[in-house]
Amino acid sequence: MSKHNEKLIAAVLYSIAVVYLIAIYTLFPINVDDVTFLKSNKLLSINANIAMAEKYYFFFIAPYTAALLYNTYATLSHIANKRNLLPYIVVFVGIILSGVNTSFVEFMTPANSLHVAPYVNPLAATSIILSLSYAIYRFEHYRIDSPKVVHCILNTIETAIILTDQFKSIVFANDSAKQLFDFHDDRERHNFEDILNDSNYSTDQYVITADKKSHRLKVSYIVEDSVKYYRYNESRLNDNNGQLYGYFYAIIDNTEMVESKNKLKRSYENLENEIKLRTYDLIHKSDILNTYNNQLRKELGRRMDMENKIKELAFKDSLTGLDNRRQFISTLEDIFLKTNLAQAHALVFLDINDFKTLNDNLGRNFGDEILMHTADVLRNYFGEEMLLSRLGSDEFAIFFKDYGSLQNISNKLTSLFNALSIPQLYDNLTLTTSYSAGIALFPMHSDSAERLINLAEIACREAKKMGENKFMCFKNEFQIELEQRFKTINKLKQAIAKDEFVLHYQPQVTMTEQGYRVTGLEALIRWQDGDTLVYPSSFISVAEQSKQIIEIGRFVINQAIKDISRLNKTYNLSLSMAINISAIQLADEFLYKTLSDALIENDFDPKLIELELTETVLVSQATAATSLINRFVNLGVKISVDDFGIEYSSLNYLKTLPINRIKLDMAFIRGIGKSERDETILEIILQLGKRLNLNVLAEGIETPEQLHFLTSRDCLNLQGYYFHKPMPYDSLIENSIVGPYGVEHKL
Ligand code: C2E
Ligand code: CA
Ligand code: CA
Repeated sequence: MSKHNEKLIAAVLYSIAVVYLIAIYTLFPINVDDVTFLKSNKLLSINANIAMAEKYYFFFIAPYTAALLYNTYATLSHIANKRNLLPYIVVFVGIILSGVNTSFVEFMTPANSLHVAPYVNPLAATSIILSLSYAIYRFEHYRIDSPKVVHCILNTIETAIILTDQFKSIVFANDSAKQLFDFHDDRERHNFEDILNDSNYSTDQYVITADKKSHRLKVSYIVEDSVKYYRYNESRLNDNNGQLYGYFYAIIDNTEMVESKNKLKRSYENLENEIKLRTYDLIHKSDILNTYNNQLRKELGRRMDMENKIKELAFKDSLTGLDNRRQFISTLEDIFLKTNLAQAHALVFLDINDFKTLNDNLGRNFGDEILMHTADVLRNYFGEEMLLSRLGSDEFAIFFKDYGSLQNISNKLTSLFNALSIPQLYDNLTLTTSYSAGIALFPMHSDSAERLINLAEIACREAKKMGENKFMCFKNEFQIELEQRFKTINKLKQAIAKDEFVLHYQPQVTMTEQGYRVTGLEALIRWQDGDTLVYPSSFISVAEQSKQIIEIGRFVINQAIKDISRLNKTYNLSLSMAINISAIQLADEFLYKTLSDALIENDFDPKLIELELTETVLVSQATAATSLINRFVNLGVKISVDDFGIEYSSLNYLKTLPINRIKLDMAFIRGIGKSERDETILEIILQLGKRLNLNVLAEGIETPEQLHFLTSRDCLNLQGYYFHKPMPYDSLIENSIVGPYGVEHKL
């Protein structure tokens, strides 16, 4: 039952008792006379009202007693610790006893002799006083914070505790304190201040010395020869008015801490001594030091040698001994970091013209000689101080720190070119190499070494266009061209993904008595970029550089073979298909598979396929390309040399490679009737073809004059706008060039 309900029940019982009491005295009022009567102690007659009141008095007593008992029970039942019940029970019994006494007096007095009352009442009062006293005693005994308990606690703790009065006379010392100061009861009366002041407070076993300043005690045991250390706190005890009435001391054993501190100090000292001893050894016994030093020097030397070798490998070009690209860039970046804004540097990119050709035709050793010669000239000309680098294959770099003026660089490069172009004797061959150079400026063009090299290279490429031994400073227009290139690469990426390429076909013809006959087609790629048809001249070189030509080339091969196969089958023809293949494509390991798969898939005769390779491909990739070309030839595919006569004078490859046909370059055809030189070259090439038993095709025929020149010299295989322009597959049939009408045409 909850406390709330218990209170309610008790309240109801009390209320009933009170209501009865009021009711009784209202119903049976007691007259003043009756009281007087009672006072006279003579009970002659009982007033009717009093008799009635006494009769109903029970109705008040009953609920009142019930309420009292219940209330007491409820209170006691909530005391958890049964030991604490006793004082309550005592008080309760006391009250009951006093109640019983009172009732006894109340009832017994009128009936018996009144003289008993004076003896009974004091008895009742005494019982109450006794029970309350006992209860208070018991309460005090059970209080958790009674002084007795506090003493008990203080005696169990290890810390020594001392309480003094305001004069520092010891009032209390716990067991630890007694033990520490060897107190006996009489000693406890001592003054604690005196003990602290006594420099040799001693017992039989030990001496205590106090240091009042630092509140420390040192206990030295006489017999055991050991020491203990203590720290003490002093607290002033003030009463509520701030009046000092005593002191409280807590004395703590901190021997362990002091000892570990001392140990640490000792170990430091030991360490110091040891170090001193060792250094002494090294300093004073010089032979030991010398041995050590020699060993160290040898080891260091060995390591430095190794490091230098590694450095050389990592940072030097092994052929020329110049800094390699990585080292050059990192040196430049360092310089740029330390450069103040007033300074300007120049980077020159130097490139050997036609190095690839020389290297491929004359051999690798020859190429190496040229590179070493170039490096030597650079070193001799600029001196060891100049920052020089071989960036890669035939590319060199010269760094002009704080270059002064462009005129200065210009002068230097002009005389450098002179020095470089002195004919050199390599093996048995005297050779003059030519160079091109590009200049880029820091910080004007860029503040990054890598980018500066790129820009100088762009400038060098432009210089190359101008001829031999020319140099150019970078211009923003070059940059625009470069950015255009990047844009094209990105656009090509999308074009490849979206299949935006189409093929146009230009007929190749053979002259006949009546006219000419279409014998084959050349596949020429176009890019359908939205509404505009983009011609290969504006994207092939980019696609080659970005290697996208490989992907594009696969499309060309598949589409061209599919179309020619369909055309021949539909109209029962045997036209050949010429496909242009660029150098990059020959390096594609899947080229062979792409082509042979397309042939099988379309069930097409390999003999009718002609791969057009430029001289550059055939010359520069001689060895790598040879085996692939031979594989194609073995398959039955024919090889023709595109743009013949324009670039190379070496005809060596004509003997070594299984070439089927050469295509005379348009440039010579244009010279017909205009340039004697061109005509002579054409005549020589045509004779050469006859001698070597090579098929010759002239392309770019636009005029009857050109046609006449060629046919009169037995060059009957022709191609050009004069006959037909390149056109889509469907136009070939729609324009009746090839189809149900055959392939014969009249002129
Ligand atoms: P190319 O192989 O020398 O092709 C001949 C180029 O001359 C073609 O230009 C053709 O349209 C053009 N031409 C033909 N007859 C005449 C003529 O009588 N007069 C004039 N002025 N031009 C004529 P096109 O189609 O613009 O191709 C340019 C070059 O792009 C080609 O030169 C070829 O090197 C390259 N090319 C074209 N298609 C492909 C391809 O599928 N793959 C690769 N790798 N290169 C391709
Ligand atoms: Ca061609
Ligand atoms: Ca050509």
